[in-house]
Amino acid sequence: MADYDYDVLIIGAGPGGYVAAIRAAQLGLKTACVESRETLGGTCLNVGCIPSKALLHGSELYEEAAHGTLAKFGVKTGKVEIDVATLQGEKSAAVKELTGGIEFLFKKNKVTWIKGQARFADAHTVEVDGKRHTAREIVIATGSSVTPLPGVEVDNDKGIIVDSTGALALSAVPKKLVVIGGGVIGLELGSVWRRLGAQVTVVEFLDQLLPGMDGEVRKEAGKLFKKQGMELKLSTKVTGVAVKGKKAVLTLEPAAGGASETLEADCVLVAIGRRPNTEGLGLEAIGLETNQRGQIETDHAFRTRIDGVRAIGDVIPGPMLAHKAEDEGIAVAEYIATGIGIVNHAVIPGVVYTMPEIAGVGLTEEGAKEAGHKVKVGKFPMMANSRAKTNRDTEGFVKIIADADSDVVLGVWCIASLAGTMIAQAAQAMEFGALSEDIAYTCHAHPTHSEAIKEAAMAVRGKPIHM
Ligand code: FAD
Ligand code: NAD
Repeated sequence: MADYDYDVLIIGAGPGGYVAAIRAAQLGLKTACVESRETLGGTCLNVGCIPSKALLHGSELYEEAAHGTLAKFGVKTGKVEIDVATLQGEKSAAVKELTGGIEFLFKKNKVTWIKGQARFADAHTVEVDGKRHTAREIVIATGSSVTPLPGVEVDNDKGIIVDSTGALALSAVPKKLVVIGGGVIGLELGSVWRRLGAQVTVVEFLDQLLPGMDGEVRKEAGKLFKKQGMELKLSTKVTGVAVKGKKAVLTLEPAAGGASETLEADCVLVAIGRRPNTEGLGLEAIGLETNQRGQIETDHAFRTRIDGVRAIGDVIPGPMLAHKAEDEGIAVAEYIATGIGIVNHAVIPGVVYTMPEIAGVGLTEEGAKEAGHKVKVGKFPMMANSRAKTNRDTEGFVKIIADADSDVVLGVWCIASLAGTMIAQAAQAMEFGALSEDIAYTCHAHPTHSEAIKEAAMAVRGKPIHM
């Protein structure tokens, strides 16, 4: 057998790559991980999940104090102000702590971090800064980057046309922010700056926000964001953005064609999706082609068409989510070490961390019908949930979609202040093949927002108690 430097070499230290590296090392494999950033953790820890959640949390505290329910509960405040520099400092501190934490875990588990950009020389060899490193198995976990909008030049330093990385680093609240793309990034970061005082317009090509989510949830989300003061321009496409002095001027057109209009903004956030990172990786050197969407195709064991080369995370098909990448990271390491691994791609929850949060797992009602299921749907409004009523956060609902014949739960969708936490029990129930009846007869602590999931399950075949 050939003599390699490592049993496994992983390219990329995002949630896919760093988790794969740690698991591989835990399983006794000699492991290296190549990462070109200055810090570990990938998009998620450096410019994604973590910094966005820090700003979402801070801006939520500000909104609650400035315009929320504090006074209702007798909490008196003076004039509430936002200090963006302090907020940004707290965000950076969280990022530093968490990325440093991964470095600590690499050392603890004896994962070698090779710093630099990896490029394939052959299927078992990568070159980093002119030095060659060989491995029995190489895992591509290079993640994704912002999809550019043709003709629109992002300049995060200037702060007029920015992508998500720029929108996470603004040093002041823009007066008028236009977000191109009503997806997850647009709504999360649009919410941050709206809460802090920006006038926000979201321009979305489709007729509803949040593609991929359940239809009723998308409609309700649109209503809620409008109520919060976001202007939504649906079925509208941006055909150009010009910078004039310190302002941006956008040209918009109806998606179906027609007369164009212009819109002025102090800041434009381009958030129209992300694309897999494969450029500069030297895939041609190993004869590995990407699919039409630029993704690397794999089988269930994350093997590519090339022997000894596997891929996980945002660079392969599936939702671009950190926890999906992490689970694939664990599974790929276990496949390599033991020949067995598991990721149930049918049960991957998704959460939009706005207020209220929007979360779902499994099939949408539309998707379930398209897949040929006869469905029964149970819904329960947060307005009828005692804890939500008491806390005065009654927006949203829970919706459970079950197969009408077998009662197997096919999908669960929630809009609720705590939807991101509530969805975990739905995912676990689905992982165990739950019927809606199983959820309905599971004792839920009172008073909790999660009781709305139990009541929605009761509504699938009968009646909830509190409605
Ligand atoms: P990445 O995290 O992109 O990591 C890949 C790493 O590989 C990068 O660090 C890159 O530098 C490195 N790399 C690439 N090519 C090479 C090379 N040739 N050599 C060496 N290194 C290389 N997901 C969630 O689940 N929840 C959220 O709340 C959430 N919020 C987000 C907010 C924002 C603003 C953004 C942009 C994304 C968010 N995501 C969220 C998505 C999440 O960040 C990604 O799905 C996740 O990071 C993908 O993990 P990954 O390991 O596949 O790739
Ligand atoms: P997205 O795919 O969620 O949304 C992009 C939106 O832009 C879509 O609604 C699309 O119809 C619209 N669009 C595309 N071209 C347009 C155009 N020319 N004009 C107007 N609208 C246009 O992508 P995103 O929001 O950029 O997020 C990228 C990825 O990052 C997503 O896959 C998401 O899963 C991940 N992410 C996840 C979280 C989370 O889990 N909370 C947070 C942020 C990002």
